[in-house]
Amino acid sequence: MADKGTSHGETHLTPAIGEYLVGLFAPETPGLQDAARAIEEAGMPRIQVSPWDGRILEILLRLVGAGKVVELGTLGAYSTQWIARALPPDGRMWTVEASPRHAQVARGVLERAGLSDRVVICEGKGLDVLPTLERHGPFDAVFVDADKGGYAAYAGWARDNLRPGGLLIGDNTYLFGRLAGVEPTSPDDRESIESMRRFHEILARDFHGVCIPTSEGLSIGIK
Ligand code: SAH
Ligand code: MG
Repeated sequence: MADKGTSHGETHLTPAIGEYLVGLFAPETPGLQDAARAIEEAGMPRIQVSPWDGRILEILLRLVGAGKVVELGTLGAYSTQWIARALPPDGRMWTVEASPRHAQVARGVLERAGLSDRVVICEGKGLDVLPTLERHGPFDAVFVDADKGGYAAYAGWARDNLRPGGLLIGDNTYLFGRLAGVEPTSPDDRESIESMRRFHEILARDFHGVCIPTSEGLSIGIK
């Protein structure tokens, strides 16, 4: 329905509907359960994508026949595994993680899931690591889920390193409610807001873009 409510943040989704749909479409594999457990046991922030959003990622990547994917923000290799599910047997992905501790936990998770040969964990900050990955491109998809102040630069890199028809995807693109209609409360906050708005402006200008209204905002664009 195109009534004002549903286009302004209201939803007919209920917890029961969510549980029903996730049970049907996005049950967690043992590998995904292992990642969630490893994140918790290591005392890392439990900020991985939801199973629902992970499944959306997988479906989007299958739609573009993704064989080479870059991820920014590994945490415990939870979203990494949703992405890896979409890859063909000879597919590869590179996932970038700034925290050595997170990278270490993710390495264990991927080894136990038998994915170490297809997924490379690149330890370092996104802006330092991305130039070293260019020789593997052009890529079929780039998933941005790291520092929010970096989103604009990551979108620019994706635009230059995706194949035509490739996909740029960003998570948390409502910026926890701060994307629009708020005043910055600190210099960091201002930087994040400006970066996330710039990310959307690049998507709107240089891609066929849209924001899928997941609970966090999942913005996508086709190059
Ligand atoms: N994609 C993961 C969640 C990532 S959380 C999932 O859904 O399962 C964000 C991650 O980005 C954290 O692990 C954090 O350490 C990492 N990060 C923060 N700043 C970064 C940077 N500049 N470059 C790369 N990774 C960064
Ligand atoms: Mg996220």
